[in-house]
Amino acid sequence: MTEASPNQLSEMWPGLLAEIQAANHILLASHVNPDGDALGSALAFSFVLDQLGKSHEVLFHHPAPKYLNFLPGIERITNQPSGKPADLAIVVDLEAIGRIGETIYPAIAAAKKLVIIDHHQPNERPGDIRIVSTKSPATAAILADLWLPNNIEISPEIATLLLVGILTDTGNFRYPNTTPHSMHVAADLLEAGAKLTAINEAIYLTKPLPAVKLFGKALSNLRLAADNQVAYTTLRQSDFTNSGAIEEDTEGFVNELLAIDTVRMAAILRESASGRIKISIRSQGPIDTTQVAKQFGGGGHINASGAHSDETIEVAAEKLVEAMVQCLASS
Ligand code: 5GP
Ligand code: MN
Repeated sequence: MTEASPNQLSEMWPGLLAEIQAANHILLASHVNPDGDALGSALAFSFVLDQLGKSHEVLFHHPAPKYLNFLPGIERITNQPSGKPADLAIVVDLEAIGRIGETIYPAIAAAKKLVIIDHHQPNERPGDIRIVSTKSPATAAILADLWLPNNIEISPEIATLLLVGILTDTGNFRYPNTTPHSMHVAADLLEAGAKLTAINEAIYLTKPLPAVKLFGKALSNLRLAADNQVAYTTLRQSDFTNSGAIEEDTEGFVNELLAIDTVRMAAILRESASGRIKISIRSQGPIDTTQVAKQFGGGGHINASGAHSDETIEVAAEKLVEAMVQCLASS
């Protein structure tokens, strides 16, 4: 079942709780380049495991982006598994095993049982136990549905972490994945003591200067296609070096391109230090970005997906725009 309702999700908690209670040691993890939902969900789960008195580790291949360093419990994340045998790995916000990251993958693979809690379009369907709902706007919203009706005490820390996941994955309730239920859940989290002002200060009202300079470069590299309905831009390593920006500073750029009034599908291609090209694609309405991402071996959600390419940034951009124009024409 990938369209579980909030009630169906809440009914899945006792089974998962039994697995947790039977485990001696648990690993929590999520995807590479963690975002607000990945970190918020994993750290919220860490506080819940504390409540349940369970020994556990929170494993992430990459460190947290700076703008999420304010998250309660952020000091818990590590990319160095202790090596202690684990009965259970609970991996949140993940649809493809390759996105766990190689530093922590062996530890996750060695756990006796794998639980996946996720809201992406199912891809490889990993996991012995899968709690997946594509109707939920965030993995954090799924966790809220597991815990709020089931007598888990939602501390201000847990409430803040879950709200971060919901806010960042809904673009502060601007994206079409926002549901009435997710707004009710957010209200419950505020009542439980979520620190909304601190979240907004850290995530939305603060921008590093190098990020603003890099955005200027992204705008000056802007290209349009299909009667201005497709927008895309490229950022090379030299653009990062010249502005002093780092990869995480590109967060949100592609959404700014999508905000151009004529644009229905937007993408950004950025060159990482290794030379690999990271692609982010966004769309409006029924235009399915996963159709494009899949052509590059990636995936994601209908309106937001991503992929990687080993071609040069020029070749990747050319292929990408062709795929986007074609996707738009067939939508
Ligand atoms: P972003 O563009 O913000 O990196 O990613 C948007 C969405 O696309 C994420 O929700 C993520 O699940 C998905 N995504 C990003 N990169 C990849 C990738 O390389 N492979 C797959 N399968 N999905 C990706
Ligand atoms: Mn998510």
